[in-house]
Amino acid sequence: MTRPMPNYIPDDADQRRAVAPVICYPTETLPTPDLALYRRAREGAEKIAEVVVPPREAATFRARAGQFFRISSIEGPQVGDFNLWNAHDLSERFYSGKTRALHGTHLGAGARMWSSFPHLRPMATIIDDTLGWYGIDEYGGSVHDVIGTRCDPYTNNLLSGGQYHHCCHSNLTRALADELGISLAEAEPHVHDVLNVFMCTGFTRDTGQYFMKASPVRPGDYLEFFAEIDVLGALSACPGGDCSAEHSSDTAACHPLLVEVFATKGDALKGWRSPEPNGYDRRHGR
Ligand SMILES: [Zn+2]
Repeated sequence: MTRPMPNYIPDDADQRRAVAPVICYPTETLPTPDLALYRRAREGAEKIAEVVVPPREAATFRARAGQFFRISSIEGPQVGDFNLWNAHDLSERFYSGKTRALHGTHLGAGARMWSSFPHLRPMATIIDDTLGWYGIDEYGGSVHDVIGTRCDPYTNNLLSGGQYHHCCHSNLTRALADELGISLAEAEPHVHDVLNVFMCTGFTRDTGQYFMKASPVRPGDYLEFFAEIDVLGALSACPGGDCSAEHSSDTAACHPLLVEVFATKGDALKGWRSPEPNGYDRRHGR
């Protein structure tokens, strides 16, 4: 973004800029997931469901607390816009902003998808990420971001004036409406900012603008989660495909995504309990 030239620069500008940053939310007291337990439990788990998300469409799935779900790239590089709700209460949904504040701009193994207030509890924990090797590239880009929103027809209309109906926002709206047997108007307010699965993004260092680049994902790559509570998920195979050029049109090459759900056996999760909603008493000082 081009900023107007400042008309005033204080004498101690350099000094003020030189102040070292502090981490907003130190994570020492953040409850850590027992990844070893989850991974052991995953070894004996069996697949109980799968759904293929067609290109430029979305699909829903459900996973019970203690089950696993895996999002896989199949056929070709493709990113996915992912929404997650409490399966029994749509008002509890994924909170990308707080997840970003707690875990950083991009998620990987060990990070969790946190839910909205007043619940603020882990909905799902990432246990495996085949793109974990990518790290942060020379442009400041990384994968699986919680800094973007979801591509949507309103911004598209604002910027280009068109009517495009297969942005992830609309795909997620249709999929949720179909899943719950409600109208599009009823479903739309439940759609929220996403976890951008496989998408490679960052902010430009010089202008601070949100950028995307071709996703490093290849068929066979996956991101796998442990469901901490009963969840309803919706995944859109973004019309941007691998997001190397553009989105919000039918121009990009698009591919399907696969979601699989796995259930554990016996007492594989012994000692684990589904997290309770947040402990704040909600008196807000009154
Ligand atoms: Zn999208």
